[in-house]
Amino acid sequence: MNDALRHPLFKQIGAIADAKGLQAFVIGGYVRDYFLRRPCTDIDVVVTGSGIDVAETLGRQIGSRVSVFKNFGTAMLRCGKWEVEFVGARKESYRADSRKPIVENGTIEDDQLRRDFTINAMAFSLNGDTFGQLIDPFDGTGDLERLLIRTPCDPDTTFSDDPLRMIRAVRFAAQLGFDIEPETFDAIERNRERISIVSKERIVTELNKILLSPVPSIGFDLFDRCGLLPLIFPELSRLKGVERVGKHAHKDNFVHTLKVLDNIARHTDKLWLRWAALLHDIGKPRTKAYDPKTGWTFHGHEVVGSKMVAAIFRELKLPMNEKMKYVQKLVFLHLRPIILAEDVVTDSAVRRLLFEAGDDIDDLMTLCEADITSANDAKVKRYLQNFELVRVKLREIEEKDRIRNFQPPISGELIMQIYGLKPCRAVGELKSAIKDAILDGVIANDYDQAYAYMERQAAELGLKKIG
Ligand code: ATP
Ligand code: MG
Repeated sequence: MNDALRHPLFKQIGAIADAKGLQAFVIGGYVRDYFLRRPCTDIDVVVTGSGIDVAETLGRQIGSRVSVFKNFGTAMLRCGKWEVEFVGARKESYRADSRKPIVENGTIEDDQLRRDFTINAMAFSLNGDTFGQLIDPFDGTGDLERLLIRTPCDPDTTFSDDPLRMIRAVRFAAQLGFDIEPETFDAIERNRERISIVSKERIVTELNKILLSPVPSIGFDLFDRCGLLPLIFPELSRLKGVERVGKHAHKDNFVHTLKVLDNIARHTDKLWLRWAALLHDIGKPRTKAYDPKTGWTFHGHEVVGSKMVAAIFRELKLPMNEKMKYVQKLVFLHLRPIILAEDVVTDSAVRRLLFEAGDDIDDLMTLCEADITSANDAKVKRYLQNFELVRVKLREIEEKDRIRNFQPPISGELIMQIYGLKPCRAVGELKSAIKDAILDGVIANDYDQAYAYMERQAAELGLKKIG
């Protein structure tokens, strides 16, 4: 018995195909992931005939709703945790200006020929008399053993036909820790300009998968080496390189960024926190300056960088919502804990950081710790120790003063009511004076002290209460 096909669903699909005089196969990701022992709940079934017809018959038998996509000739149904997609075996040919192929009905061999990589072209037969047989015309199992990403056909044709496959090659290399076979790699280099016909949405789906892989730097390093990086992510590409004047050289910010990304990947699976790591120094090229006394500086790169986040998200068609704001905020604040750790850690500085980071303070600390990539072990150790101190202080002060979700105890409305004011500068000044007094520890975070403080400040401004 083929372990991959233990679930009764597979036999049932085979029986339906037998009754209709068709061949049916499980193909692609499910077969690959079975051999790699990776969990996979997406099943792709190819039928030599109408995939929709087989799906509808199965749907009736198991009482499951079938979603039909007539334009694509595909159908999908769910069965417990499984999501099964059905498609007719097809033969494809391409025109130069589009990723969309001209499609004809084909055999299983035709269908395997159109697949992107050898490891994605393997199929298990589902028909009764050949149930469980592996059909592996391009030695995908060999490439799984050799840990290789390789195209089944001429790689130049494969990538020119559908350039998204170049990005997928890099994505699978990062996800699986595989190498791209040299001829396949060279073809990516030769065909890289073809990426211009691929939509940003498709590219960013793959970027997200790379970011979520165990060692994401593998993907970005490959993009760099094959020349795709400046085409799909120019801002990241601009981080590359080292400039030297006399004895002053700065670090290569691309290399550094990838280290930070790998560091953070060991501590979090949050996609947007990993994005923040990727973009934390993105403002450096625009702020770079040389000072003969102190060497290279990147003053304000966190401010410039956080402003660049929106443009990058828009360009890549990433969501322009609170996820983007979160990445912006982390980029903006990414130097703060480290500055804290370098100095005497005062309560007031800790309160300010808590106030600005709010609920994202833990993620910010994770980012900052990942950002420590010095080659000097003693320095790294010192930083991490100081960081521990900052964390302890953060906990203490949060317990004491509850700054994390700080709402000033006196609102602007209340100030306007008390002093009979319309919205104006004095209201804003009073409000922020109270906030500053709390964050600086001049008064406690409570209503009575804030009220008394407001009265003193208002008197200085010459404001009188009404009523
Ligand atoms: P995952 O689902 O983990 O991202 P997958 O290999 O299953 O990986 P899908 O996008 O679900 O990827 O595609 C299913 C199968 O369809 C692949 O295994 C491959 O055989 C084929 N395929 C997908 N995209 C392409 C493409 N651009 N060119 C050729 N074949 C492709
Ligand atoms: Mg899949």
